[in-house]
Amino acid sequence: MSFPYEAPVSQSLFERASAVTPGGVNSPVRAFRAVGGTPRFMVSGTGPYLTDADGREYVDLVCSWGPMILGHAHPEVIAAVQEAVARGTSFGTPGAGEVELAEEIVARVEPVEQVRLVSSGTEATMSAIRLARGFTGRPKVIKFAGCYHGHVDALLAAAGSGVATFGLPDTPGVTGAQAGDTIVLPYNDLEAVRAAFAAHPGEIACVITEASPGNMGVVPPLPAADGRPSFNQGLKDLCAENGALFISDEVMTGFRVSKSGWYGIDGVRPDLMTFGKVMGGGFPAAAFGGRADVMAHLAPVGPVYQAGTLSGNPIATAAGVAQLRLLDDAAYEKVDAVSAEIRGLVAEALTKEGVAHRVQAAGNMFTVFFTGTDVTNYDQAKAQETFRFTAFFHSMLAQGVYLPPSAFESWFVSTAHDTRAVERIAAALPAAARAAAEATE
Ligand code: PLP
Repeated sequence: MSFPYEAPVSQSLFERASAVTPGGVNSPVRAFRAVGGTPRFMVSGTGPYLTDADGREYVDLVCSWGPMILGHAHPEVIAAVQEAVARGTSFGTPGAGEVELAEEIVARVEPVEQVRLVSSGTEATMSAIRLARGFTGRPKVIKFAGCYHGHVDALLAAAGSGVATFGLPDTPGVTGAQAGDTIVLPYNDLEAVRAAFAAHPGEIACVITEASPGNMGVVPPLPAADGRPSFNQGLKDLCAENGALFISDEVMTGFRVSKSGWYGIDGVRPDLMTFGKVMGGGFPAAAFGGRADVMAHLAPVGPVYQAGTLSGNPIATAAGVAQLRLLDDAAYEKVDAVSAEIRGLVAEALTKEGVAHRVQAAGNMFTVFFTGTDVTNYDQAKAQETFRFTAFFHSMLAQGVYLPPSAFESWFVSTAHDTRAVERIAAALPAAARAAAEATE
């Protein structure tokens, strides 16, 4: 397709970047491969806006893939960072900031009795899996197709088929041995989980799931109905019956969809949880935590080793504490309200142009699927008309609205998305909806 306008400075940065970095990016989705065109190199962010290297301003609906829930450069977060950085950037010793961030997490998320800080969501899930294996003495892990838990070798077995399969490595570099203990099942299918436990008695250490998935687009867990439990409750029950741990990955939903994340919405109590994104205030901070008796298996108290030079970094913890302390009930009400408003505007514009779509939400996270049917698993997500998203995306980009550059991602908003930002989105939608309607494969 043709792209509505050029971005010469970004283009030249992308050429330089591509010479020294594979694909010109440090995380693949940033490369615009799914939508084509030149990735925008951003130079600054304020509130709900990003400015690129060509000097164009965008309303940001990515928010750094979730963390920037207070908008960019929030004055109180910046002040906390400046105050911390002036005292030194890393000590390799314990520090008060780590205690404050851990206390904040434990106070907000009731199932977390103890927590360990790490630097990325990937580290958090990798460590939680190791701990679950160490605690249970069992090798196997159940995960769900379409759920992303970072680039942990064993968890990259995403098995696109949606059929219950033994994990085959989805990427070269992950060996059969690394993925062979991973069982990949279709999301929202409790019977498949029951069958896997029956097929592998005494072998399954844990089930890991996104608390409410955002990485195949937003596909919430099915609620309880007709006498059967909700998907998450069903997972919890099956784990308890079979002596396995239930790990809820809240790297994306944690402290974003409520004060206590998705747990605050569905109340299903996991054995272990993982966090990242919002809790770092835009810096590399993440965590895993849960039952004290399980966490007691971690070094230096227990035998399961886990460590990190920059874990609990003073700048990252200062940013995280400042951000979490600003996230009170009023802040979540604001984010929820602006999310609902934008969802309504998008649905209205697409309906007007006769474009089949589903706007699916989990709290204030949402995705616009270009399909006429509800999406409850990865196969259904993949059945959408992605070519319509591509046209929609480029029209919005040309009009100054920055969406995630893939149809399989959540859109994120912040407390800073005010009337002016929403009006700019509303003004861009009619042309984008028309572009989606007119798009061809
Ligand atoms: N788990 C979930 C649910 C995520 O969404 C992500 C990242 O998007 C991760 C884990 C990995 O986090 P990170 O990118 O910080 O390693």
